[in-house]
Formats: sequence, C-alpha cells, structure tokens
Amino acid sequence: MTQAIVQIDGNNFYASCEQMIDPSIRGKGVVVLSNNDGCIIARSSEARKMGIPMGQPYFKLKEKLKKLNINIRSSNYELYGDISNRLMQILIENCEELEIYSIDEAFARIDRPKDQELYRWGKELRETIFQKIGIPISIGIGKTKVQAKIANYLAKKVEKNSGIFDIANIENKDDLLNQIKVDKIWGVGPMMTKWFKEKGITNARELRDMSSDEIKRKFGVIGQRLQYELKGTSCIPLKSKPSDRKEICVSRSFAHPIDRSEELLQAIGKYILIGTAKLRKSHQLASAITVFTNTNKYSNNFYKSHASKILDIPSNDSILMLRISLELGKKIFKPYNKLTKAGIILHKLQSDQYQQKILFNNQDIKEDLKKENLNKIIDIINRKYGRNTLSWAPSIIDNNWSQRSNNLYNIKTTDIATIPTVIAG
Ligand SMILES: [Mg+2]
Repeated sequence: MTQAIVQIDGNNFYASCEQMIDPSIRGKGVVVLSNNDGCIIARSSEARKMGIPMGQPYFKLKEKLKKLNINIRSSNYELYGDISNRLMQILIENCEELEIYSIDEAFARIDRPKDQELYRWGKELRETIFQKIGIPISIGIGKTKVQAKIANYLAKKVEKNSGIFDIANIENKDDLLNQIKVDKIWGVGPMMTKWFKEKGITNARELRDMSSDEIKRKFGVIGQRLQYELKGTSCIPLKSKPSDRKEICVSRSFAHPIDRSEELLQAIGKYILIGTAKLRKSHQLASAITVFTNTNKYSNNFYKSHASKILDIPSNDSILMLRISLELGKKIFKPYNKLTKAGIILHKLQSDQYQQKILFNNQDIKEDLKKENLNKIIDIINRKYGRNTLSWAPSIIDNNWSQRSNNLYNIKTTDIATIPTVIAG
C-alpha cells in the first residue's frame, strides 16, 4: 500500500475562530490583535483582500481599519486553544497517524486507497471540519513533509484547487516547483536562503536539481535531508508523541507599569497557577522555579531581577509552588520601580510517573493524596468552565494592570454562562 504525508492547516486560524463564534462578522473584514492590542497578528481573507498588512502596529492602522469598516478583536487564546483541541480530535479520528505541529497545523500519514486518489478523503475531511467546528482548512498531500508543505501552499494559493492539492500524483512537478521561491520552502531559513541565492538557486525546482555534494558540504545532513524530501524520499519522520518539554515559561507585559509589591505577587501567583496546570496536563513535575521581573528596557534606571529555588522533591502541586514563588517574588521586588513585566519559569521537568521520593522523608502520604485530588478537581472545573473559575486567593487580580483586551468578543466556548439563549416557538 502506498502512503501519503499530508499537511493540514487552519486558514487564517485566529480570524476564522472569531468569525465562527460571532456570526455577525462572517464574510466581513476581521483583524486579530496581539497581547495588549499591540499588532495585527491575523486577518480574515476579506481583510487581506482589502490590503491590510500583517504584523503592523494597531495604532498606525486604526484610522484605515475604521474607514474600511473592519472588525477588531483582541486575541482570545482560550478560544483558539479550545477550537484547536476540537480540530485535532477530528484529525486524529480521520488519519492513520498524526503529529500536532502547532495550534492550527498538523502532519499526518494516510494510506492511499487502491485508485491512489485522496481528493475524496480530503473533501470529506474539509466538509466534516467545517460542519462540526466551522473552520476552513487547507490540505496539502505529498510523499514527504516538505512536499506536503508545498502542496498546501498551492492548495491555498491557487483558487481552483479549492483547498486541496496532491503533488505526489503529478508526474512532472517542474512547473509547480518553479513557482515556489526558495525562502518559502519549509526548513529553509534566512542563512540558507542567502547562500542559495548567491549560488543562483531561486526556487524549489533548482534546489531539487542542484549538486547534492555541494549542499551536503555546506549544510551537512540537514541540507541533504531537505533535498531528498523535495525529491520525494521521506527523511523527516512524523513525531506523533510530543517530546517532553524541558521547561515551561509563563510571562506577560502589564497593561501599564506597576509599583506595588501586592500587584507583582498577584501576577506571579497567577502565572505559577497557569504553569502548574500545564505541568499536570502534560504529566510532568518541575525540579526548580525561577521568578523574574523588569522595568522598561529603555527607561533611565533599568531594573531587572530574578530569584530561583531548587525543590527538595520535584512537584506539580499548585499550593506548594505558589508558596515558594511568592517568597521568591518578595525577594525580587524593589520599591520605586515601575515594573512592566513579570514571569515564572519551571525548570528541569520530568515525567510524573517515576516520582523520586527522598529516602526516609517525613512526607505524609495521605496529605499528598489529598493535595493531588484537590489539584485534579480544580483542573477539571477550570477546563470545563474557563481558566479562572477556581483560583487561589493570592493570585486573584485587581484587573487594573492585567492585559489590555479592549476589543475582546466575550463569548467563550469554554464558559457555559456566555452561550447565548435562543428562545424557540
Ligand atoms: Mg494557518
């Protein structure tokens, strides 16, 4: 049986999520702003057609967006994360093997049917996803990851492909590969691009056909793999099991500078609870904690500080980590500084399956079990009703300094209370 490597990607994902949750902006221009409503990080296809560029500061385009009647949304990662989970769940059910690559992207392995034709499968998958979660996707099909990425680009770019393109079944790929600029190839960074351009290699066809020895000499096995993948020999395997993270960092800039220790401790408390919930979700324990804060880099008396502690026993317990991080937080606070950012890092993560207990320690096993259950229940409730449904008192925030989200559309798929009521009859 022949196998195909498929790349699946949500179109304008953040903007599509906003249009899915709010019917009044479907078919209209929508832009999504980064944290603190800073820059444009996603555009609906309508906004793109109106010529709104990506990555520009919001304040610069505010007037133009208003004139064009484009809808503005603050980013809502809780919503995007939830929609992403639903998307990946459908993909897992419809693919032989899946590698979740980012919030809206996945690679998959698919067995080809007898007639080798995967368009039918792709069309059904697109329809299922649109019907169940309301997000348009593109599907690129090839023999390798690099080919699948190129196919996805063509699926999106060429309108008549209507979101699906299979490059593997095309005998002579020259014309297609000629259209792909070298810097658009997956895995080609700025350094490689520069070297290829110096060599006169400008597109994927030229890269595929250049001397293998030369590319190997310059970029070693990475360059060689890239060329093999372009030719259709798979060398970058699917990673269906996420490699365990070694570190978790949660940090944010404040909406405006803060100078009270209570505010700093509230922020640190909030971030450590997000971090420990992540740890438990990935069945990991942390062996050390760092907390940090700083003032504006460009201010006259720039101040930054951090403090760390190694834990006696690796843990993912919110209460213990909260207590430690608040102690560390007190150490890094200095009055009369206008702090603009704070964060926490959980280090040296390890699996929670083989928790090392210190020999002859005085741990109370019953007490440990109680804490574990309490954390579990809080996680379940927060997953069901939204992140801050249950929290610990030191992290309850005074919303003054928390992030600016002036354009947040306040319906959440994770919060039953915000679901609109429809009266029938
Ligand atoms: Mg995408």
